[in-house]
Amino acid sequence: GKIVIAIDGYSGCGKSSTAKAVAKELGYTYIDSGAMYRAATLHFLNNYLTATNPKDIQKGLKDLEISFQLNPDTGQQDTYLNGLNVEQEIRSMRVSERVSDFAKVKEIREELVAQQQRLGKEKGVVMDGRDIGSVVFPDAELKVFMTADLDTRAFRRQKELFERGEIVDLEDIKANLGERDRIDSSRKESPLLKVEDAVEVDTSNLSFAEQVAQIVGLAKQ
Ligand code: C5P
Repeated sequence: GKIVIAIDGYSGCGKSSTAKAVAKELGYTYIDSGAMYRAATLHFLNNYLTATNPKDIQKGLKDLEISFQLNPDTGQQDTYLNGLNVEQEIRSMRVSERVSDFAKVKEIREELVAQQQRLGKEKGVVMDGRDIGSVVFPDAELKVFMTADLDTRAFRRQKELFERGEIVDLEDIKANLGERDRIDSSRKESPLLKVEDAVEVDTSNLSFAEQVAQIVGLAKQ
């Protein structure tokens, strides 16, 4: 039968693209939890709200509406924030540089985790993030922890940004990935860590097809 697949790991390991391909191959639904933290961050930034003032947090969460809609041109799920397609904007450096600060906030996590659990309540789901195997779906039948060395991750991310029309120095990308890993791993609220029952997949020396095949193989066991 269908299962739940939780994919966690450091920033820029290729979790999203791998999870998407795994979902497609298995006929599962893919849910990008990072896109939700990114959309929430964009919402707070656009409304000049901080991650530190409780009033700001309350205000920001009150009218935060995140959804996913299939884009018929690309066949992918685009992220919507309060009815607007923000798929491109949430991938920008402006959002990447602030997202981990907002993802530290307990109230924001509680809200997004609840939404993620609702979105994934039917089996046949692949969700990627930082706390999927630990908090969102602790009972997931398959938990994967993806890693890759920093240079590999930075290089892949630079290519991705370039394809979206944003040219960023490799050093700036490395700094951002390293900083997000540091904040995500050291925060008080559900820090990023490999849970005991997760299978570690190091993608540094794997091709994309190999990464996907490895996880699909695990799912079929
Ligand atoms: O997955 P992605 O790199 O797009 O996530 C962006 C950021 O959102 C992460 O660096 C992390 O701060 C936060 N995040 C999180 N928990 C998740 C998914 C993402 O804290 N489940």
